[in-house]
Amino acid sequence: MSGNNIEIKILGSGKEVGRAAIAVGRNGKYVLLDYGVNFDEKDNPVMPLPIAPKDVEALVLTHTHLDHIGAAPLLYVSKNIKAFATELTRDAARLMLEDFLKLSGYYLDFEIEEVNKLIDNIQPVEHGQTVSAGQFLLSFFDSGHIQGSIGTIVDVDSTRILYTSDVNLMETKLVGPAKIDGLKADIVIIESTYGSTDHPPRIDVEKRFIDAVREVIENNGVVLVPSFSIGRGQEILSILIDNDVYPVRVDGMIRRASEISLMHRKFLRRPELLEKAMEEYLFVRGWQDRRKAWKTPGVIVASAGMLKGGPSRYYLRKIGKEKRNAVFLVSYQAEGTPGREILEKGGTSEIPKLESRVEWFDFSSHADSTSLINILKRISSVQTVILVHGEEEIQRVFADKVEKELGIKPIIPSTGDTITL
Ligand SMILES: [Zn+2]
Ligand SMILES: [Zn+2]
Repeated sequence: MSGNNIEIKILGSGKEVGRAAIAVGRNGKYVLLDYGVNFDEKDNPVMPLPIAPKDVEALVLTHTHLDHIGAAPLLYVSKNIKAFATELTRDAARLMLEDFLKLSGYYLDFEIEEVNKLIDNIQPVEHGQTVSAGQFLLSFFDSGHIQGSIGTIVDVDSTRILYTSDVNLMETKLVGPAKIDGLKADIVIIESTYGSTDHPPRIDVEKRFIDAVREVIENNGVVLVPSFSIGRGQEILSILIDNDVYPVRVDGMIRRASEISLMHRKFLRRPELLEKAMEEYLFVRGWQDRRKAWKTPGVIVASAGMLKGGPSRYYLRKIGKEKRNAVFLVSYQAEGTPGREILEKGGTSEIPKLESRVEWFDFSSHADSTSLINILKRISSVQTVILVHGEEEIQRVFADKVEKELGIKPIIPSTGDTITL
């Protein structure tokens, strides 16, 4: 490492899960790796720290979750900035950001014009491709997190910095594992969402999920599966159709996100499953369909994943009062969300006591503790490890593990910190 004057600015995701925003730079010019949002207890968006758009040489959007892209249009109020993302991320980002404006527009300092400007400035990149931006060389690899997700390698002044972004080593029905073999870096900026725990094997989780779904349907019940519209939604549909589960109704933005995913099918591991689900499952197209959807036994897959909004709220009110029905949560439930309240207190403010069965399934798309260590071991010549996108307590546990296994003491920066090399 030559090591003079390279800066890594943590503009978000320091000791927190969400608002990923990391600027890597030298001589006052930066590459910005993600520019996402978080949400406070009142569900209002929390922006990353600002950066002057004139100092941003290029923006990389690693995938289309709002905690990685939600603030990106802000950079386009006054300027055009070159941006890189996969085609799938670009197309899905428009959908996600338009929806974000609809739900939270009052709190946002950008409008549809800036979203359009961002999308127009995205130059599509592929896994394995290298591009240049000023003094930086950027290359991208498959991070295995959701369809179209990438990790990024930044080469600047003979130093190589690798940013995993959200990463997964486990093969799922939706995507293959991250492709990290042969990668080399001096500095690794790694997510640490599940730094202190391990996930059960995916195949076991799928089996338990399908068995439970069948049991409810056989007892004439309805299973509500609240689901994120991109990523988990397509994974759940693929699992259900692969196991011949019928009938399934799908409601919310999952339909558009699935259509966009199928336009870029090379990013899916089993595109034929999603295609079959789109043909054979009922996609709810209005109130007439919606009012019928919960009246006969079957599965309803509906956004939003934490029951914060979207049609899943309506279905919960309709099916939550009967014992034969079920609510199966299939993603992380953040503090303060109705999904978390159901898990912890058995109800929400609207329905204080749910009668239906409630279960949580560990379908994570983030590497667990053992896999994160594996990732670090498989990248060669690592000298510095920086932990982001994790809760501090979990990061401390993980940092001890990294020190024990690799002999490197990781840096745990706060948002606002600048690491100078
Ligand atoms: Zn993500
Ligand atoms: Zn994330």
